[in-house]
Amino acid sequence: MNERSLGGHTLSGGERPSKSFGTGRICREPGCNTRLSMYNNGKFCYQHEPMAVPRTRGKKIA
Ligand SMILES: [Zn+2]
Repeated sequence: MNERSLGGHTLSGGERPSKSFGTGRICREPGCNTRLSMYNNGKFCYQHEPMAVPRTRGKKIA
């Protein structure tokens, strides 16, 4: 018998369930039916998320 001793790292209690915000939610933007990720705590999809406005390319006015 040559078992490795599992000293040091002791997992306490196993995996914790990830915090989720519910499934089946959709973007609040009218007409947008994009389903939100259960890990997205926002109310909008990534396209309509006010805090994450994607840069629009090709709109630079000279
Ligand atoms: Zn949306």
